[in-house]
Amino acid sequence: MFDIHEEYKKVLENEIFMRLALEQAGIAGAKGEFPVGCVIVQAGQVVATGARKGTGPGKVSFSEIDHAEIRALKSLEGNTEKFNPKESVLFCTMEPCLMCFAAIILAGIKKIVYAYEDPMGGGTCCDLSSMTPLYQEAKMTIVSGVLREKSLDLFYDFFNKEGNLYWKDSFLERYTLEQKRSSTRK
Ligand SMILES: [Zn+2]
Repeated sequence: MFDIHEEYKKVLENEIFMRLALEQAGIAGAKGEFPVGCVIVQAGQVVATGARKGTGPGKVSFSEIDHAEIRALKSLEGNTEKFNPKESVLFCTMEPCLMCFAAIILAGIKKIVYAYEDPMGGGTCCDLSSMTPLYQEAKMTIVSGVLREKSLDLFYDFFNKEGNLYWKDSFLERYTLEQKRSSTRK
């Protein structure tokens, strides 16, 4: 049965935790890093946070390991409370890439909520049913577009800053700049 109060509560919860992930993205962005942030929530409590690293100024090559989601998953190792992935939700300001999507599945987390889609490197659209059993049986729930505009703003700023070279002149950059233009046209 559709319960409007329950639905409203879910929307509100998603936005509250996405704001915390956006805070992490803002921390990364303020350092000149690609502005992606992540929080992992277990039973209503934040148990891990992560901000993108390895993309900032002065790098001769970028890190493709230090994604916000991987850093959040890694930070779980320092927790003293037992992590229960089945009760947890991962909130990320950008759609996870294939590496992160796989790591989230391997960690046993069943639900991902993200803000801004990644039309260039997003991995959550991959067809798990044609893969090996662990992935086939993952039964992931994915919610997209939560506070999308706020995340888009961060990427727009990133791509507009001279000196930010990560994914410079990429499909993602062109797509992001175009999204902003079309949203201001409305
Ligand atoms: Zn990733």
